[in-house]
Amino acid sequence: MAPEEAQAALEAAKGFRAILTIGTNPLRNRQALALAEAHPHIWASVGLHPTEARLLSPELEADLAYLAQHPRVRAVGESGLDYYWTPETRTAQYRALDFQHALAHRLNRPLILHVRSKEGDQAEQEMAQWLRHNRPARFVLHAFAGHPGLLAAGLELGGYFGLAGPLTYKKNQALREAARQIPLDRLLVETDAPFLPPEPFRGQRNHPALVRFTLARLAELHGLGLEEMERITDQNAQACFGF
Ligand SMILES: [Zn+2]
Repeated sequence: MAPEEAQAALEAAKGFRAILTIGTNPLRNRQALALAEAHPHIWASVGLHPTEARLLSPELEADLAYLAQHPRVRAVGESGLDYYWTPETRTAQYRALDFQHALAHRLNRPLILHVRSKEGDQAEQEMAQWLRHNRPARFVLHAFAGHPGLLAAGLELGGYFGLAGPLTYKKNQALREAARQIPLDRLLVETDAPFLPPEPFRGQRNHPALVRFTLARLAELHGLGLEEMERITDQNAQACFGF
């Protein structure tokens, strides 16, 4: 993000009580932590994204373990399974996932999970299985896309579901049906910025302030007012991340 763009996004997000900004590799983890140290309402997550799993090494593991215990870091991840961009690193993705799960468990932090397949739903099916086998104490299915098996596993194990811009896309009726089935105390909203901007901003760069449009759609789906849903998701984020 260009500096002036980043400044504008920060300005627009000043009304937020708390933002969790996400690390995905050693450089991004440091950038996330620097933002969290500079702004009292921003917190960081540090992790190794499944598409970067090939970077996994003993040095990187030590670096993650070091960063994750910083008091401004409130989650581990994004971790997960991505067979859309990097199906060839499946073994490394599992190693990175298991490592981050153990780290999150040891530090009593939630684990943020990214799950994406190219065709079919192999990553989603495998993640549902992995969750049932490993039972992380606190986890977030981030940018949840509505997969029924993952929904079932997440509900069964008491996970949080991060809803992003696609909740507002016209064709995503199945995702909206899934979101309606998620209990109120498991709902989170997120941007996935700069990706997945909500309607009516599709095609533009996403930024934190646009999360309001996803929140509005979520409120409507649960038959609540915007402010009530804002209060609920604030409370959930606080319970999940300990802001
Ligand atoms: Zn992701």
